[in-house]
Amino acid sequence: MAAKSVLRLQGVHRAYQEGDHTLEILKGADFELKSGEMVALVAPSGAGKSTLLHLAGLLERPDSGEVFVADVPCGTMTDGDRTARRRNDIGFVYQFHHLLPEFSALENVMIPQMIRGLARPEAAERARQLLDYLRIGPRAEHRPAELSGGEQQRVAIARAVANAPLILLADEPTGNLDPDTSGYVFDALAALARQSGLAALVATHNHALAERMDRVVTLADGQIVPFTA
Ligand code: ADP
Repeated sequence: MAAKSVLRLQGVHRAYQEGDHTLEILKGADFELKSGEMVALVAPSGAGKSTLLHLAGLLERPDSGEVFVADVPCGTMTDGDRTARRRNDIGFVYQFHHLLPEFSALENVMIPQMIRGLARPEAAERARQLLDYLRIGPRAEHRPAELSGGEQQRVAIARAVANAPLILLADEPTGNLDPDTSGYVFDALAALARQSGLAALVATHNHALAERMDRVVTLADGQIVPFTA
C-alpha cells in the first residue's frame, strides 16, 4: 500500500517585518511528508526551522500558499478547527521538554489524553504502555526533576505521541543531551515511527542523527530542498 500524505506545504510564503525591511523566510516553499517517514531538517540558526515547524504544526498561518494535514487544507480553517486538528493529528517535542514539574512522568503522558476526553484508567494504561515501550516504565511515578535529561526527553516523546498523532514535529529534541543519550532518544523515536506509521519532521543540528533518517532537507533561498553535505 502506498504511504499516505500526512503533511504537505504548497507554495508557502512567510515573511516577518523587521523595522523597515521584510525578512522573507519562505518564498513559495513546497514539501511533503508521508506516513511512516522520518525527515531531518538541517539548517543554520535563523534560517527558519522553527517558522517551518510552526506552520506545519498549525501554530502560525502562511502569508500565502497552503498547508495540508492528511490532504485537508488548513489555511482558511477557523482557529477552533485548527486547534482540534493540532490536538488530534500533531505531536510536538521541543529541545527543553516542558514537562509539568508537579506531575509524575505517568501523569504528564496521561494529561493530553484526558484533555482529549479519555477516561483516567484508559489514559493511564496507554501512558504505561508508552513509557514501557520507551524503556522508562520503572521511572513512571517520578517527577521530571527526578529524571535524567534522556529520561525526561523520552517522557516528552511519550506525551507527544499519547494521542496517536499522524505527525510528530520535533525542534532540536536532542539539543541538550550528550551523544549517547541523543542516540538512545533517536532510537526511541525511530522505533515508534516504525511501529505506528507515525511521520516525523525533526529539526536538528546533529548530523549523525540526521543521516540516520529517511531524508534530510534544508532551507535555501526560501525553499525546502534536499540537503547535500
Ligand atoms: P531557526 O529556527 O532556524 O533558528 P526561526 O524560524 O526561529 O529560525 O527564525 C527565522 C528568522 O525569522 C530569524 O531571523 C528570526 O529572527 C525571524 N523571526 C522568527 N519569528 C519572528 C517573529 N515572530 N517576528 C519577527 N521575526 C521573526
